[in-house]
Amino acid sequence: MSPLLHGLSFDVEEFFHVANLRERFARADWKDVPSRIDIGMGRILDLLERCDTRATFFFLGWVAERRPDLVRRCLDGGHEVASHGYEHLFLNQLGPERLDEDLERTEEVLVAAGAPRPTGFRASTFTLTRETFWAFDILCRRGYRYDSSIHPIRHPLYGVPDFEPGISRVQREAGRILEFPVATFPFCGRNLPVGGGGYFRLLPGAITRAAVGALERRGRPAAFYLHPWEFDPDQPRQPAPLLKRFRHYLNLHRTLPRLEGLIRRFRFGTMQEALTRAGF
Ligand SMILES: [Zn+2]
Repeated sequence: MSPLLHGLSFDVEEFFHVANLRERFARADWKDVPSRIDIGMGRILDLLERCDTRATFFFLGWVAERRPDLVRRCLDGGHEVASHGYEHLFLNQLGPERLDEDLERTEEVLVAAGAPRPTGFRASTFTLTRETFWAFDILCRRGYRYDSSIHPIRHPLYGVPDFEPGISRVQREAGRILEFPVATFPFCGRNLPVGGGGYFRLLPGAITRAAVGALERRGRPAAFYLHPWEFDPDQPRQPAPLLKRFRHYLNLHRTLPRLEGLIRRFRFGTMQEALTRAGF
């Protein structure tokens, strides 16, 4: 049997799209904020090329519309292009009808940039929770193969702590879709988030590697996620409440070497490849 493959992914958004800085950057002002996305994207794409690794890029439609060249660069590198929705609204803010429109608009933008119609989706800020399970119906109707919007942890804003932490099939009236949640590791009766983002920058690299190794020994592929702004330690600091500042700026200089260490130790591929390799 071929070795297990973990899913590597990036949510392609600017630093000013992040929920932690939402109060600072109003939607109407986004167009006037100087873009820094090339800094992070350049570092990510160089790293993946250097390590001969492919990944999934969940593009925000807002970004893809302005930067179709970035979409094409990902495609040229052999990466998967998927949807992160159009403008980073939480699913509970969108509601079913607007989610449908938001997905359609993002699909159109990605296809116009030269990508195949996306078959994978990740909601803004993991806001697919028990209250927004209706999103699965819309994704099924629109023909998505998989979703990666559930984080099976306890968190004040999101999370479905009792959701199946491995890959699972979600059966809905509208059809069936795969869920590939961000990786967690059971620890002291809870699921410890080990699949990227702020926790990846917070936890020592050795802990993440140990957790991914343990998941691998259980035959469980890990879904991993990061953002371009996490590879940009020199981004301008924004005033925000202390906890939000901590989450956003912690250890940004460590993201790149830590990810390289992880990629060189384990085998990563696109989310689609990891699902297929796992037999789904
Ligand atoms: Zn996002």
